[in-house]
Amino acid sequence: MKEIGFIGLGNMGSKMSVHLSKAGYNVSGFDIDNKLMDEVAKFGIKKENSVSEISKNKDLIITMLPNGKIVNEVLNDVFNNISNYPTIIDCSTIDVNTSESLYKLSLSKNIPLLDAPVSGGTIGALNGTLTFMVGGEKDIFDKMLPIFNLMGSKSVYCGNAGSGQATKLCNNMLLAITMIGVGESFNMAKNLKLDLNILYDVISTATGSCWSVNNYCPIKNVGPVSPADNNFAPGFSAKLMSKDLKLAINAAKQTNSNIEFGQKAEEMFTKMAEGVNGEKDFSAIIKEI
Ligand code: NAD
Repeated sequence: MKEIGFIGLGNMGSKMSVHLSKAGYNVSGFDIDNKLMDEVAKFGIKKENSVSEISKNKDLIITMLPNGKIVNEVLNDVFNNISNYPTIIDCSTIDVNTSESLYKLSLSKNIPLLDAPVSGGTIGALNGTLTFMVGGEKDIFDKMLPIFNLMGSKSVYCGNAGSGQATKLCNNMLLAITMIGVGESFNMAKNLKLDLNILYDVISTATGSCWSVNNYCPIKNVGPVSPADNNFAPGFSAKLMSKDLKLAINAAKQTNSNIEFGQKAEEMFTKMAEGVNGEKDFSAIIKEI
């Protein structure tokens, strides 16, 4: 396998594609934003002019796009223009239904397709330390592991098509809920006149410990460096968190799952996403509590 097409060169895709190019693959890129293609061209990524052009003569096509509607349009365009049988990996975070229906379409065309959303944010994309949650056929996952290993440090096979997306939604809903909990806890501690560094020291090794405290504490100068130390520049924006929570709510409705806290988290992050802090890191939710 040598020829890779990468569609969607935004905050994540621009960084992920460079690891593949540095590893010696012939990587071509396409994004509707021409400037982004100029940026990655500096790392040896060839510019293509359209989805139809990038679909030709590839061994692998990776998509990293904003949402399910766009992924659906782009992959239909890919299916209509491919000249051989490339494997397709969709790394975007999208709804489970779109992911499953694209898989069915790919089956009918004998094209292997994996859903492989990621966790780890732009820093993980830059450092090649993303976690991939992968749905689809296991033998295709095994074949693609060397590719995942170039862009990430952990790849987990989650099950049938759509399972990667479903896993991502469950993870991000929990992340949203814990971040709100951390915000409430530290805000109350401030009102109780506690030293927040001492509180961090206790919580991060006590029963309240979780990733939102230990790795991403939303208080400046408390815990490891996090967006709170950089005026809440993202990271992972409130807008993206709001999008993921809406996907979780749809999945819960379809499966009759009770997600009261998830619903409350969606309300809070959507309000933040629509306000002045929408582009800020999601951990700035502490300011909205
Ligand atoms: P982004 O908006 O920075 O990048 C998406 C890119 O897709 C943009 O550059 C846009 O121009 C391009 N695009 C849109 N429509 C297109 C089309 N029809 N053809 C070609 N290109 C098109 O978004 P991002 O932050 O890179 O996120 C991408 C995906 O990864 C999203 O689904 C997001 O939820 C997910 N994700 C993001 C993060 C993060 O921290 N940013 C973390 C995990 C997962």
